[in-house]
Amino acid sequence: MDQQQRRVRYLRVSLTDRCNYRCTYCMPEEGIEHRHRDELLSLEEVVRLCAVFARWGVERVRLTGGEPTVRKGLVSLVTALRQLPTPKGKLEVVMTTNGERLEALAESLARAGLSGLTVSIDSMRPDRFRQITRRGALARVLAGIERARAVGLGTIKLNTVALRGFNDDELGEITEYAWTRDMVPRFIELMPMAAGRLFVPGELMPASEIRSAIATFAEVAELVPDEARGIAGLGPATYWRVPGGRFAGRRLGIIAAMTENFCNTCNRLRVSASGQLHACLARDEAGDLRGALRSGDPGALEERVRAVLGAKRERHGFALDGTGGPRKAMISIGG
Ligand code: SAM
Ligand code: SF4
Repeated sequence: MDQQQRRVRYLRVSLTDRCNYRCTYCMPEEGIEHRHRDELLSLEEVVRLCAVFARWGVERVRLTGGEPTVRKGLVSLVTALRQLPTPKGKLEVVMTTNGERLEALAESLARAGLSGLTVSIDSMRPDRFRQITRRGALARVLAGIERARAVGLGTIKLNTVALRGFNDDELGEITEYAWTRDMVPRFIELMPMAAGRLFVPGELMPASEIRSAIATFAEVAELVPDEARGIAGLGPATYWRVPGGRFAGRRLGIIAAMTENFCNTCNRLRVSASGQLHACLARDEAGDLRGALRSGDPGALEERVRAVLGAKRERHGFALDGTGGPRKAMISIGG
């Protein structure tokens, strides 16, 4: 593999384009046209694909979706992926989930070797939580988080899309909930997906405002950049630390795709549930890995990956007026 491919250490694999929630910023209310079952990568194909990326130097795979916990066979998949060799050891497997099924699954996932979890939670108020997810029940997610902590499911992070006029008054509360449980809160700027077909009950909250809100909550003048920049700097989040006071040393992450562009350091690749390889979340362009995997030609996959990496543009096209994003919804690409 060439230099560019070696830089890619982190792969996100979407297991499904289905979800038991319908978050307003992720999916249009009418839903999306789901792929036919044959069009999805089988779990055996997911393992084969990850084995190739692991050989090329990918150290960690994040299972996502849609909602990964709605895919049958998830636990066995984690077990199989954990066996895959990488140049540095065994493949690490983590997952992003809405947490709805976590209470039932946490223990088996921990036993299968899942080593980290990100749970999305946009509000600590049941009515708001329901409004933003259209389907979710906050109490179930909180119970899932407690279960995951109890079974020692690695590092747990929370993902919150920060929305002015919706949850900007509870960022401190969410942060405190995370910090008092040794979890890392992460705030995400709203990205304009699905070509304007989404109605979101709030607006983009810029990273600078998020930091001020948390600094005020933590009673410090400002947050300071955290040198570690997250676990081995693998993701797009920047990490910030509280320099003093009662929360001294606590960290939070910010994913600021809109106002603090990180394209120049982005080493992310995303494979959709149907095997489309996206080098950028903000663009519809993708390379078809499913065809390459099913062709039986061992060189075809490498060629397709090279083509996608070669076509990776300098920057995403997201604009602050909400234009420039992909036609696809987040749920179709895999967040
Ligand atoms: N279903 C899982 C979940 O919700 O965590 C995994 C998939 S979801 C697409 C992954 C992440 O993308 C979630 O944390 C969600 O909040 C985030 N997300 C979805 N649409 C977004 C958007 N338009 N802007 C910013 N973040 C978004
Ligand atoms: Fe489902 Fe996650 Fe998208 Fe919400 S953000 S609709 S939980 S895939």
